[in-house]
Amino acid sequence: MSPYWSDLAASLVPYVPGEQPKDRTYVKLNTNENPYPPSPRVLEAIRGAANGDLRLYPDPTCSALIRKIADYHGVSPEQVFVGNGSDEILAFSFAAFFNPTGEPVLFPDITYSFYKVYAGLYNIPYRTVPLDDEFRVPLEALGEPNGGVILPNPNAPTARYVETELFRDVLTRNRRKVVILDEAYIDFGGRSAIGLVNEYPNLLVIQTLSKSRSLAGLRVGFAIGHPDLIEGLNRVKNSFNSYTIDRLALAGAAAAFEDQAYFEETTRKVVATRERTAAILKERGFRVIDSAANFLFVSHPERQASDLFGELKQRGVLVRYFNQPRIDNYLRVSIGTDEEMDVFLRALGEILKR
Ligand code: PMP
Repeated sequence: MSPYWSDLAASLVPYVPGEQPKDRTYVKLNTNENPYPPSPRVLEAIRGAANGDLRLYPDPTCSALIRKIADYHGVSPEQVFVGNGSDEILAFSFAAFFNPTGEPVLFPDITYSFYKVYAGLYNIPYRTVPLDDEFRVPLEALGEPNGGVILPNPNAPTARYVETELFRDVLTRNRRKVVILDEAYIDFGGRSAIGLVNEYPNLLVIQTLSKSRSLAGLRVGFAIGHPDLIEGLNRVKNSFNSYTIDRLALAGAAAAFEDQAYFEETTRKVVATRERTAAILKERGFRVIDSAANFLFVSHPERQASDLFGELKQRGVLVRYFNQPRIDNYLRVSIGTDEEMDVFLRALGEILKR
């Protein structure tokens, strides 16, 4: 605590991102990054932009990138917003759509931990909705009086996916509130709700280039929804920083949408490796939650997840452990290459034998 901090800064409980250790080389399966590099076209575009005019500010309207995303997803540019990672769009959304007074915003009790942090930052009341014992989202509960709804689909860190059509009821029952579907992991097996935005003006779908496009380091995410929602986001953005996406990121992100074959190939490989790893873990007695994401959420009936986490780390394999009620005996394991998963499985085999 410092006397220089504002009351707001003193009150915050910030998000703690997964480790990015520098002490040694790990098989890094802890932050859901893609094990494959981005498309060569992305790198080419970034090089081109670097040779361009970095002296000048980037386009504050991000119009070329927005047009590219709009064409790719079959919507109009007025329905698209881009941000510095989807985290930034989530932060802007809390300010743009949720209020400090009135009903609480709803999200699952086990979900992306940044939602609570944004609620704290903007003083938004929230209520968590408990997932059932299988980590399924109780959709009926999301229709109770609320100040808005937000959840990832597939959920994080459980990896469970809810069939998109099942959200229709939630959207109808919340006509006057914004429902945000955070689709950070949708490309690994789910069907996006973008197809519903023309029917539901209260639906905002947020996606990222960090996972399925292998661009966590570039920091680009996007949101698709009714033009009024997009305008709300732009009002917040332009009260904060008009140049959230730099010239390199604008060029690289646009190029990522031009290489469909590469995207499909790398995504297919991640999914195949996920299924192979899940089958082996089940054979070894793990409970493995059905995953539609690029990670697995797993628990062993006899070995404490915190111990497994520590022993894996000693052997140079980094996974994610959440010391939180209900999930403190689970590990979240990002999907790497087949070779990386073999290292993980070998280390796990050694640990379980002891
Ligand atoms: N939503 C969820 C559910 C996530 O797990 C993540 C990644 N930590 C994000 C959003 C943010 O991703 P990014 O800011 O890299 O787009």
